[in-house]
Amino acid sequence: MKSMELKRQIHADRVVIKVGTSTLVYPNGTINLRAIDQLAFAISAMRHRGREVILVSSGAIGVGLNYMGLSARPKAIPEQQAIAAIGQSELISIYKERFATYEQKIGQVLLTRDIFVYPESHQNVLNTLEALLAQNVVPIINENDTVAVDELDHETKFGDNDQLSAIVATNVSADLLIMLSDIDGFYDGNPTDQQAHLLTRVATVTDHTYALAGGSGSRFGTGGMVTKLKAAERMLAANGQMILANGEDPAILFQILAGDPVGTLFG
Ligand code: ADP
Repeated sequence: MKSMELKRQIHADRVVIKVGTSTLVYPNGTINLRAIDQLAFAISAMRHRGREVILVSSGAIGVGLNYMGLSARPKAIPEQQAIAAIGQSELISIYKERFATYEQKIGQVLLTRDIFVYPESHQNVLNTLEALLAQNVVPIINENDTVAVDELDHETKFGDNDQLSAIVATNVSADLLIMLSDIDGFYDGNPTDQQAHLLTRVATVTDHTYALAGGSGSRFGTGGMVTKLKAAERMLAANGQMILANGEDPAILFQILAGDPVGTLFG
Protein backbone atom coordinates (compact mmCIF):
# COMPACT_ATOMS: atom_id res chain seq x y z
CA MET A 1 0.00 0.00 0.00
CA LYS A 2 3.02 2.23 -0.20
CA SER A 3 1.87 3.98 -3.35
CA MET A 4 -1.38 4.94 -1.61
CA GLU A 5 0.60 6.89 0.99
CA LEU A 6 1.98 9.06 -1.77
CA LYS A 7 -1.46 10.09 -3.01
CA ARG A 8 -2.43 13.69 -2.50
CA GLN A 9 -5.73 14.99 -1.24
CA ILE A 10 -6.86 17.12 -4.16
CA HIS A 11 -10.06 19.15 -4.18
CA ALA A 12 -10.97 19.76 -7.78
CA ASP A 13 -14.70 20.30 -8.26
CA ARG A 14 -13.92 23.64 -9.85
CA VAL A 15 -10.54 23.95 -11.55
CA VAL A 16 -8.71 26.69 -13.41
CA ILE A 17 -5.95 25.48 -15.75
CA LYS A 18 -3.34 27.88 -17.08
CA VAL A 19 -1.19 26.95 -20.05
CA GLY A 20 1.86 28.89 -21.18
CA THR A 21 3.00 29.46 -24.73
CA SER A 22 5.72 26.83 -24.27
CA THR A 23 3.01 24.15 -24.02
CA LEU A 24 1.21 25.33 -27.15
CA VAL A 25 4.00 26.35 -29.50
CA TYR A 26 7.19 24.42 -30.28
CA PRO A 27 10.51 26.26 -29.84
CA ASN A 28 10.75 26.50 -33.66
CA GLY A 29 7.47 28.47 -33.69
CA THR A 30 5.12 25.83 -35.09
CA ILE A 31 1.93 24.97 -33.24
CA ASN A 32 1.96 21.93 -30.99
CA LEU A 33 -1.34 20.47 -32.18
CA ARG A 34 -0.77 17.29 -30.22
CA ALA A 35 -0.53 19.23 -26.95
CA ILE A 36 -3.63 21.25 -27.77
CA ASP A 37 -5.49 18.05 -28.61
CA GLN A 38 -4.34 16.39 -25.37
CA LEU A 39 -5.44 19.46 -23.43
CA ALA A 40 -8.87 19.41 -25.10
CA PHE A 41 -9.14 15.67 -24.42
CA ALA A 42 -8.17 15.91 -20.75
CA ILE A 43 -10.38 18.93 -20.07
CA SER A 44 -13.35 17.36 -21.86
CA ALA A 45 -12.87 14.19 -19.83
CA MET A 46 -12.82 16.29 -16.65
CA ARG A 47 -16.04 18.00 -17.72
CA HIS A 48 -17.67 14.67 -18.48
CA ARG A 49 -16.79 13.56 -14.93
CA GLY A 50 -18.66 16.58 -13.61
CA ARG A 51 -15.77 18.90 -12.84
CA GLU A 52 -16.09 22.56 -13.79
CA VAL A 53 -13.07 23.72 -15.75
CA ILE A 54 -11.87 27.13 -16.89
CA LEU A 55 -8.87 27.32 -19.21
CA VAL A 56 -6.59 30.36 -19.18
CA SER A 57 -4.52 30.16 -22.33
CA SER A 58 -1.55 32.18 -23.47
CA GLY A 59 -0.16 31.67 -26.95
CA ALA A 60 -1.94 34.28 -29.07
CA ILE A 61 1.25 35.96 -30.24
CA GLY A 62 3.09 32.68 -30.82
CA VAL A 63 0.22 31.32 -32.89
CA GLY A 64 -0.14 34.65 -34.72
CA LEU A 65 3.52 34.71 -35.68
CA ASN A 66 3.25 31.20 -37.06
CA TYR A 67 0.04 32.03 -38.91
CA MET A 68 1.62 35.08 -40.56
CA GLY A 69 4.84 33.24 -41.35
CA LEU A 70 6.93 35.52 -39.14
CA SER A 71 9.91 34.24 -37.19
CA ALA A 72 10.27 37.14 -34.77
CA ARG A 73 7.89 39.27 -32.73
CA PRO A 74 7.47 42.74 -34.31
CA LYS A 75 8.96 45.59 -32.27
CA ALA A 76 6.14 48.14 -32.51
CA ILE A 77 3.28 47.73 -30.02
CA PRO A 78 0.44 48.14 -32.60
CA GLU A 79 2.00 45.41 -34.73
CA GLN A 80 2.36 43.14 -31.71
CA GLN A 81 -1.28 43.76 -30.89
CA ALA A 82 -2.26 43.02 -34.48
CA ILE A 83 -0.39 39.71 -34.29
CA ALA A 84 -2.14 38.98 -30.99
CA ALA A 85 -5.54 39.69 -32.59
CA ILE A 86 -4.75 37.39 -35.52
CA GLY A 87 -3.26 34.71 -33.28
CA GLN A 88 -6.08 34.80 -30.73
CA SER A 89 -8.74 34.08 -33.35
CA GLU A 90 -6.60 31.34 -34.88
CA LEU A 91 -5.88 29.83 -31.45
CA ILE A 92 -9.53 29.82 -30.45
CA SER A 93 -10.55 28.22 -33.73
CA ILE A 94 -7.99 25.44 -33.15
CA TYR A 95 -9.37 24.97 -29.63
CA LYS A 96 -12.93 24.96 -30.95
CA GLU A 97 -12.13 22.27 -33.47
CA ARG A 98 -10.18 20.10 -31.01
CA PHE A 99 -12.78 20.41 -28.25
CA ALA A 100 -15.54 19.61 -30.77
CA THR A 101 -13.85 16.23 -31.35
CA TYR A 102 -14.74 15.45 -27.73
CA GLU A 103 -18.20 17.04 -27.99
CA GLN A 104 -17.22 19.82 -25.63
CA LYS A 105 -18.36 23.40 -26.22
CA ILE A 106 -16.12 26.36 -25.47
CA GLY A 107 -16.62 30.10 -25.03
CA GLN A 108 -13.97 32.79 -25.44
CA VAL A 109 -13.58 35.38 -22.68
CA LEU A 110 -11.06 38.21 -23.11
CA LEU A 111 -10.29 40.19 -19.97
CA THR A 112 -8.32 43.20 -18.89
CA ARG A 113 -7.07 43.76 -15.37
CA ASP A 114 -9.22 46.83 -14.76
CA ILE A 115 -12.32 44.66 -15.06
CA PHE A 116 -11.64 43.41 -11.57
CA VAL A 117 -11.40 46.97 -10.23
CA TYR A 118 -14.85 48.16 -11.33
CA PRO A 119 -17.55 46.40 -9.30
CA GLU A 120 -20.09 46.26 -12.12
CA SER A 121 -17.79 44.88 -14.80
CA HIS A 122 -16.33 42.54 -12.20
CA GLN A 123 -19.78 41.19 -11.42
CA ASN A 124 -20.63 40.93 -15.14
CA VAL A 125 -17.57 38.79 -15.76
CA LEU A 126 -18.35 36.53 -12.83
CA ASN A 127 -21.96 36.18 -14.00
CA THR A 128 -20.78 35.30 -17.49
CA LEU A 129 -18.34 32.68 -16.25
CA GLU A 130 -21.00 31.15 -13.98
CA ALA A 131 -23.48 31.10 -16.88
CA LEU A 132 -20.94 29.37 -19.14
CA LEU A 133 -20.10 26.77 -16.50
CA ALA A 134 -23.79 26.19 -15.79
CA GLN A 135 -24.27 25.37 -19.48
CA ASN A 136 -21.39 22.87 -19.50
CA VAL A 137 -19.25 25.19 -21.58
CA VAL A 138 -15.50 25.53 -20.97
CA PRO A 139 -14.55 29.22 -20.81
CA ILE A 140 -11.21 29.89 -22.49
CA ILE A 141 -9.75 33.08 -21.08
CA ASN A 142 -6.91 35.29 -22.20
CA GLU A 143 -5.90 38.85 -21.55
CA ASN A 144 -7.40 41.18 -24.15
CA ASP A 145 -4.11 42.00 -25.80
CA THR A 146 -5.53 44.66 -28.09
CA VAL A 147 -6.48 46.73 -25.05
CA ALA A 148 -3.84 45.73 -22.51
CA VAL A 149 -0.67 47.42 -23.70
CA ASP A 150 1.45 46.55 -20.67
CA GLU A 151 0.83 42.85 -21.23
CA LEU A 152 2.92 43.03 -24.39
CA ASP A 153 5.74 45.09 -22.97
CA HIS A 154 8.92 43.05 -22.85
CA GLU A 155 9.49 44.14 -19.27
CA THR A 156 6.29 42.50 -18.11
CA LYS A 157 5.86 39.70 -20.58
CA PHE A 158 6.34 37.00 -17.95
CA GLY A 159 3.60 36.02 -15.67
CA ASP A 160 0.73 38.25 -16.57
CA ASN A 161 -1.42 35.23 -17.30
CA ASP A 162 -0.15 33.67 -14.07
CA GLN A 163 -1.74 36.56 -12.17
CA LEU A 164 -4.80 36.54 -14.41
CA SER A 165 -5.38 32.83 -13.77
CA ALA A 166 -5.04 33.27 -10.00
CA ILE A 167 -7.37 36.29 -9.98
CA VAL A 168 -9.94 34.35 -11.99
CA ALA A 169 -9.52 31.25 -9.82
CA THR A 170 -10.01 33.11 -6.55
CA ASN A 171 -12.93 35.15 -7.90
CA VAL A 172 -14.84 32.07 -9.04
CA SER A 173 -13.85 30.26 -5.80
CA ALA A 174 -12.00 27.50 -7.66
CA ASP A 175 -10.60 24.75 -5.47
CA LEU A 176 -7.54 24.28 -7.58
CA LEU A 177 -5.36 26.23 -9.98
CA ILE A 178 -3.21 24.03 -12.22
CA MET A 179 -0.33 25.81 -13.87
CA LEU A 180 1.23 23.99 -16.79
CA SER A 181 4.69 25.33 -17.53
CA ASP A 182 7.94 24.29 -19.20
CA ILE A 183 9.42 22.92 -15.97
CA ASP A 184 8.55 19.89 -13.80
CA GLY A 185 7.70 22.03 -10.77
CA PHE A 186 9.30 24.30 -8.19
CA TYR A 187 12.93 23.59 -7.32
CA ASP A 188 14.82 24.50 -4.16
CA GLY A 189 17.33 26.43 -6.25
CA ASN A 190 18.41 27.05 -9.80
CA PRO A 191 16.72 24.17 -11.67
CA THR A 192 19.70 23.83 -13.98
CA ASP A 193 21.95 23.07 -10.95
CA GLN A 194 22.58 19.36 -10.39
CA GLN A 195 22.04 19.85 -6.62
CA ALA A 196 18.62 21.47 -6.97
CA HIS A 197 15.67 19.26 -6.01
CA LEU A 198 12.08 19.34 -7.12
CA LEU A 199 9.84 20.19 -4.15
CA THR A 200 6.69 18.06 -4.22
CA ARG A 201 4.96 20.27 -1.67
CA VAL A 202 5.23 23.88 -0.55
CA ALA A 203 2.82 24.53 2.34
CA THR A 204 3.30 28.29 2.54
CA VAL A 205 4.98 30.87 0.33
CA THR A 206 7.50 32.91 2.30
CA ASP A 207 10.38 35.28 1.53
CA HIS A 208 12.58 32.21 1.55
CA THR A 209 10.45 30.66 -1.22
CA TYR A 210 10.82 33.80 -3.32
CA ALA A 211 14.58 33.68 -2.79
CA LEU A 212 14.57 30.16 -4.27
CA ALA A 213 12.83 31.51 -7.36
CA GLY A 214 15.86 33.66 -8.08
CA GLY A 215 15.09 37.32 -7.57
CA SER A 216 15.99 39.85 -10.23
CA GLY A 217 19.74 39.98 -10.51
CA SER A 218 20.10 36.25 -10.05
CA ARG A 219 21.34 34.33 -13.08
CA PHE A 220 18.33 32.08 -13.37
CA GLY A 221 15.54 34.42 -12.29
CA THR A 222 13.28 34.99 -15.26
CA GLY A 223 10.41 36.60 -13.40
CA GLY A 224 8.29 33.68 -14.58
CA MET A 225 8.61 31.75 -11.35
CA VAL A 226 8.07 34.82 -9.17
CA THR A 227 4.67 35.47 -10.74
CA LYS A 228 3.82 31.79 -10.24
CA LEU A 229 4.65 32.11 -6.53
CA LYS A 230 2.48 35.22 -6.32
CA ALA A 231 -0.33 33.23 -7.93
CA ALA A 232 0.23 30.43 -5.38
CA GLU A 233 0.10 32.96 -2.54
CA ARG A 234 -3.19 34.29 -3.85
CA MET A 235 -4.66 30.78 -4.05
CA LEU A 236 -3.47 29.84 -0.57
CA ALA A 237 -4.90 33.05 0.90
CA ALA A 238 -8.26 32.04 -0.58
CA ASN A 239 -7.96 28.53 0.93
CA GLY A 240 -7.36 27.00 -2.49
CA GLN A 241 -4.52 24.89 -3.82
CA MET A 242 -2.19 25.33 -6.75
CA ILE A 243 -0.20 22.70 -8.61
CA LEU A 244 2.68 23.66 -10.87
CA ALA A 245 3.54 20.93 -13.35
CA ASN A 246 5.12 20.34 -16.72
CA GLY A 247 2.69 20.86 -19.59
CA GLU A 248 4.84 19.06 -22.14
CA ASP A 249 2.30 16.26 -22.08
CA PRO A 250 -1.06 17.68 -20.91
CA ALA A 251 -2.20 14.13 -20.08
CA ILE A 252 -0.40 14.92 -16.80
CA LEU A 253 -3.76 16.47 -15.83
CA PHE A 254 -5.10 12.94 -15.26
CA GLN A 255 -2.24 12.17 -12.87
CA ILE A 256 -2.74 15.47 -11.04
CA LEU A 257 -6.43 14.78 -10.51
CA ALA A 258 -5.72 11.22 -9.43
CA GLY A 259 -3.61 12.71 -6.63
CA ASP A 260 -0.30 11.41 -8.00
CA PRO A 261 2.59 13.43 -6.58
CA VAL A 262 3.59 15.07 -9.86
CA GLY A 263 4.80 18.67 -9.99
CA THR A 264 4.68 20.89 -6.93
CA LEU A 265 1.61 21.21 -4.75
CA PHE A 266 1.20 24.60 -3.08
CA GLY A 267 -1.13 24.15 -0.16
P1 ADP B 1 5.75 29.88 -18.51
O1 ADP B 1 6.19 30.45 -19.83
O2 ADP B 1 5.26 28.48 -18.57
O3 ADP B 1 4.80 30.77 -17.76
P2 ADP B 1 8.24 30.79 -17.27
O4 ADP B 1 9.37 30.59 -18.24
O5 ADP B 1 7.70 32.15 -17.10
O6 ADP B 1 7.09 29.74 -17.59
O7 ADP B 1 8.72 30.28 -15.81
C1 ADP B 1 9.29 29.02 -15.66
C2 ADP B 1 10.79 29.17 -15.50
O8 ADP B 1 11.13 29.70 -14.21
C3 ADP B 1 11.54 27.86 -15.51
O9 ADP B 1 11.75 27.35 -16.81
C4 ADP B 1 12.88 28.25 -14.82
O10 ADP B 1 13.83 28.66 -15.76
C5 ADP B 1 12.51 29.47 -13.96
N1 ADP B 1 12.76 29.27 -12.53
C6 ADP B 1 13.35 30.18 -11.70
N2 ADP B 1 13.45 29.71 -10.43
C7 ADP B 1 12.92 28.47 -10.44
C8 ADP B 1 12.74 27.46 -9.41
N3 ADP B 1 13.12 27.64 -8.14
N4 ADP B 1 12.12 26.31 -9.77
C9 ADP B 1 11.70 26.10 -11.04
N5 ADP B 1 11.87 27.00 -12.04
C10 ADP B 1 12.46 28.18 -11.77
